[in-house]
Amino acid sequence: MLLVLGLCAPACCGQGTTIKVLPWDNHPAAISLTFDDARPVQLDVAVPELNKRHLHATFFVIVSKLTRLDDWRKVQHAGHEIGNHSLTHPHPDGLSKGDEELQIEDAKRFLDSNFQSDILTFAYPYAEISAGFSYWVKRYNFAARGWRGDNNLLYVAADNDPDWYNLPSQPTNTQYDFDVYKSWVDHALSINAWTTLQIHGIGDVSTGYEPIPTATFISLLNYLRVEQDKGLWVAPFGEVAAYLRAQRVIEKSQPQLANQDETIRWDLPQPFPKGVVLKVTLRGQDRCRLFQGGHELRRGKDGTYPLSFDAKELVIRGRA
Ligand SMILES: [Zn+2]
Repeated sequence: MLLVLGLCAPACCGQGTTIKVLPWDNHPAAISLTFDDARPVQLDVAVPELNKRHLHATFFVIVSKLTRLDDWRKVQHAGHEIGNHSLTHPHPDGLSKGDEELQIEDAKRFLDSNFQSDILTFAYPYAEISAGFSYWVKRYNFAARGWRGDNNLLYVAADNDPDWYNLPSQPTNTQYDFDVYKSWVDHALSINAWTTLQIHGIGDVSTGYEPIPTATFISLLNYLRVEQDKGLWVAPFGEVAAYLRAQRVIEKSQPQLANQDETIRWDLPQPFPKGVVLKVTLRGQDRCRLFQGGHELRRGKDGTYPLSFDAKELVIRGRA
């Protein structure tokens, strides 16, 4: 019996190929909508229109522009993400080292103490990345939004190792009509990738940089709502980035075999949001059982197991 188990456990449960993390939380692709600069039109138009359609987005706020703090708190309560877009939105050129830290760290401290959860994502003002900004951004965040990623890649694939502190985004432009945005969404779906839209104003030019015409914005939201119902993952920037970064950590962890158990251990990046749960499947479906913290994971109706990234360990046991 022991011999059989000894042979069966590793053989049946595999060695490093036992589990598969499903990309994009088991959706075909991911889209993140991000809104910059804490413009009033975002509270008055974007948030109600998003809420109506159960779409969740990210708002990268400039702390000095947060005049309606209670309204912004409600945005977070409604399930949207608040991200750090610096204290006063300066160009990094000409800032002293101390000012660079203040722009990121003071803004974070203000946001952390005025919002419910810690703010762990950043968007660079003007998408300009200096060495000083980069240093402080890495220290206080787990992901940051840039303009265009490495090699001008605007779409992040689930098997890529992107620069977590310069994740790409596509800015909206007043001249673009709905078909342009539709093509971005369709392209993400066609290559099973993630892309992030960067939005400032909505409507007339007084509402912010390169405003997206209101009718175009509404058409985009309607389209995202339809695609979300069909399976597209429309989620805040930080939520998608955390899932992908946790997935990459698990995939790079080396399993260890002992006493017929296969154990995968990993460390959490610091800082990192709490409560990230990955959807995983087993390759040897009925022969293996998964445990975290001594508790067996239960398979959901969709055939996936909920893997807690916080647990930092997964034990895979052959079924006796
Ligand atoms: Zn900005």
